[in-house]
Amino acid sequence: MRFFTNERESNQLNSRDHIFHRAFKKEWPVVSHGEGVYIFDTDGRRYLDACAGVHVVSIGHGVPEIAEAMKKQSEKICFPYGRFLSEPQIELARRVAGMTPDGLSRVFFVSGGSEATETAMKMARKYHVENGDHRKYKVITRWQSWHGNTIGALSMSGRSIWRDDYVPYLLDFPHITPPIPYRCPYCSDRNECQLTCAEELERIINQEGSEYISAFIAEPVLGTSCAGVAPPAEYWRIVRDICDHHNILFIADEVVTGFGRTGLDFGMQHWDVTPDIIATGKGLSSGYTPIAATIATEVIYDAIYRKNDAFVHGHTYGANALSCAVALEVQNYVRDHELVSRCRCLGDIMLEQMKAFEDLPIVGEVRGKGLLIGVEFVADKTKRTPFEPQLGLTGKIVNRCMDKGVLIMPGAPGLIDGVKGDHIAVSPPYIITEEEIAHSVTVMRDSIVEVSNEI
Ligand code: PLP
Repeated sequence: MRFFTNERESNQLNSRDHIFHRAFKKEWPVVSHGEGVYIFDTDGRRYLDACAGVHVVSIGHGVPEIAEAMKKQSEKICFPYGRFLSEPQIELARRVAGMTPDGLSRVFFVSGGSEATETAMKMARKYHVENGDHRKYKVITRWQSWHGNTIGALSMSGRSIWRDDYVPYLLDFPHITPPIPYRCPYCSDRNECQLTCAEELERIINQEGSEYISAFIAEPVLGTSCAGVAPPAEYWRIVRDICDHHNILFIADEVVTGFGRTGLDFGMQHWDVTPDIIATGKGLSSGYTPIAATIATEVIYDAIYRKNDAFVHGHTYGANALSCAVALEVQNYVRDHELVSRCRCLGDIMLEQMKAFEDLPIVGEVRGKGLLIGVEFVADKTKRTPFEPQLGLTGKIVNRCMDKGVLIMPGAPGLIDGVKGDHIAVSPPYIITEEEIAHSVTVMRDSIVEVSNEI
């Protein structure tokens, strides 16, 4: 099994199955089961899941308490549909609202991160419409960001390679420069950060006309597109002030960072800046069931319901009772085992060990917050020159780690300019032990060294 290699010749039609595959591979491993930080395939191979699937699995695989909660709820009811509330939905909403910053107290459950960000986009629009600002509809976003694959979410995303073929369908949303200190086009020749990237938000608002801008969306700490990158300290306060000044809602995309991944319940809490809407998912259920959520302030909720008796939006499986019961049990487990503070401590340990990779000739920077850590590779350390994408460096390193039994995420291609930039993401379940961290770090280091010797 391989990532990012061209195996078309040998795999024109995979006769083994009838799956419409997500990617060509000579052979897909078939999963058998999971236990703790490990995944086992049907050939008996064991993999240490050092990326939690895709930054999802916080409490580890195969937790019996979750299976028990699934059984209990499914014996009662799984799917009453939206004409009923369910007790797990009410309880989960209460729990989630209790974890969010002050004022974010209305929780709309959906089934995945793209639905959550698109719901946020619609909530923001509806809020402005109800306040008489009918012209406000555009969402400002940042290049290299990732907010999902459905058309609204993809329009808000900045990952060029995933957008290219679908551009004719996408909404005309403005993109600004993301704050990636190692790659900053503004401050690279200055001694210290001038926060010009934050001021770019104000510039684009003026250029587009604030009367057309509904919201600004951003990930507190970058996840799949540029793992572990956090902005300079003052960035979010400036963003918040600019949004307030122009009556623009600030949507924090916490699909990756929500529910403890960066060592606090939500990523924005590191900066003590409160968004108007949070879109979240992944860690909510630790992958035990598809569920995500959009969380809005009471002010937004009141504006929408002032004259209406419905928020005209929703998905069939949103807030289904089974998913809510499972997510609630996952959050109980996280709380009872104090996994968020564990994630914070272990994140510091893992980051410190991985920082040592910066001694290697092809490692440009290691960065991270909590258990969300990224490594960027460079062909020339002094000039920070990226490798040619054709080399497939990221895929080679990810594959080598997998061959050695450790799963890490390939960073999405193009973190620098949409085309170039090799990087990996590491984000194990919060239950990982110090020994398992040390083992993963050794495997990653060996793989990086071996691949760099071969290229
Ligand atoms: N937002 C962020 C920050 C993500 O990383 C992702 C997925 O990786 C999404 C949204 C979309 O979530 P989903 O793939 O569950 O639709």
